[in-house]
Amino acid sequence: MTADASAIPPLPAFDGRAVINGHRTAAIDGQTFDCISPVDGRVLTSVSRCGQADVDHAVATARAAFDSRRWSGMAPAARKRIMIKFADQILAHADELALTETLDMGKPIQYAKGVDVNSAANCIRWYGEAVDKVYDEIAPTPRTGLALITREPVGVVGIIVPWNYPMIMAAWKIAPALAAGNSVVLKPSEKSPLTALRLAELALAAGIPPGVFNVVPGYGPEAGSPLALHMDVDCIAFTGSTRVGKQIHVMAGQSNLKRAWTELGGKSPNIVFADCPNLDKAVAAAVGSIFFNQGESCNAPSRLFVEESIKDAFLEKALAMVPKFQPANPLDKSTVMGAIVDKVQMDNVLRYIGLGESEGATLVAGGKQALTETGGCYVQPTIFDGVTNHMTIAREEIFGPVLSVLSFTDTASVVEQANASIYGLQAGVWTSDINKAHGVARALRAGTVHVNQYDEDDITVPFGGFKQSGVGRDKSLHAFDKYTEVKTTWIRIDSPV
Ligand code: NAD
Repeated sequence: MTADASAIPPLPAFDGRAVINGHRTAAIDGQTFDCISPVDGRVLTSVSRCGQADVDHAVATARAAFDSRRWSGMAPAARKRIMIKFADQILAHADELALTETLDMGKPIQYAKGVDVNSAANCIRWYGEAVDKVYDEIAPTPRTGLALITREPVGVVGIIVPWNYPMIMAAWKIAPALAAGNSVVLKPSEKSPLTALRLAELALAAGIPPGVFNVVPGYGPEAGSPLALHMDVDCIAFTGSTRVGKQIHVMAGQSNLKRAWTELGGKSPNIVFADCPNLDKAVAAAVGSIFFNQGESCNAPSRLFVEESIKDAFLEKALAMVPKFQPANPLDKSTVMGAIVDKVQMDNVLRYIGLGESEGATLVAGGKQALTETGGCYVQPTIFDGVTNHMTIAREEIFGPVLSVLSFTDTASVVEQANASIYGLQAGVWTSDINKAHGVARALRAGTVHVNQYDEDDITVPFGGFKQSGVGRDKSLHAFDKYTEVKTTWIRIDSPV
């Protein structure tokens, strides 16, 4: 199968201009950049190349909206109703958003619609519904005092997101930030800016007041840094690489000590013991999770540790699944593996595959670019056997469809190897022994440990990492912690009784 360009349905009329103060806005200096589809290399539209002046404009707008209390001062139940309408708007435009996402970043259309659009809408609805059900506190003070512990929106929230799940990553941050009453300036990735711009328009259509939710597309150093360094941004919430995440914390410190929250990279270990309750399920999860979204998932279980006694049987079953994941036209509804986001990322993935071979791992599946005739960016599903933990492909995040298989013989050493990473985002454990499951899950230094499954998920649970996988948590009620300040109001009670 090829990514046949003639199969592309009529395209939506893309508008790549920023959304500031409720209006579509060209960059102040008129600069644009091309938005190129990794499906077939076509230019989708030109996008505002925002810089310092545009960020200043958006932040001033967000500040004015916040101070006006049009949104921040609204009763939580009123904000809830608008957030729910916002989620409804997303679902009403599901086909358009899914097509845009697929063309912009290359993921299969069935997941763009079934996963990305639905998850983004669900997230926005969930935080909307939550916000009028969260109570504040009264402290157990002496009787002479009444101490109210209340939560207030932090103010202007800057948000910077990556390209792998453009709508979901944006929703995980804008939903709790907006529901809590903040104003937002969002900078989407330059590799996938289009759906974020549409989200801002759909928010306006739902009734979120102009200026409350602004989107400034552009490059990281040109539009992202001014946001992270801005003296009038109260909080910066970032998802992306650990390299840039570290810079975000520095920029927060260099400027106004804004609250900085970072969701960063991962190199997640997935440990399959010989007493795994269902080998077929473990294989399907290991293979399906690393190849889902072309491997461009921060929580992908990219280091697979299989107990030596079942390794050959496991690998045989894994290899039998590989043909199902051959890349194909992302616009075809049956496709399960689409295009890598751009040529830079594709070349990076191929470079890591070359490193795996040169450092002595055994390539047992894939390893090559695919569908070159399409003009798009595709890589075969790739599996390396005989990987050791010190190899580059076991240490560094590849962010592509590349699985490293390692074997082990004892529990203590596999836990030690699993934890021997700068990252600590997620991990998996497969065993029928409940004691081993709990013991290993406790010993693993990761924000989420999956037991006898991988990748099951829900908006109700926190998402984030230990170590250099970042600071803070997205999703669940815990996310409100990032976008609210805790205030104590101590009232003296001089009571005659
Ligand atoms: P990236 O760090 O290159 O870019 C992320 C965002 O930061 C983009 O919008 C980019 O324009 C911006 N940026 C880049 N340089 C900047 C700078 N100097 N100042 C301010 N902003 C800047 O990451 P990416 O390649 O877009 O995304 C892939 C990374 O994201 C992977 O490491 C992946 O693990 C991580 N990720 C993490 C999670 C999570 O929840 N932990 C989720 C998704 C992706």
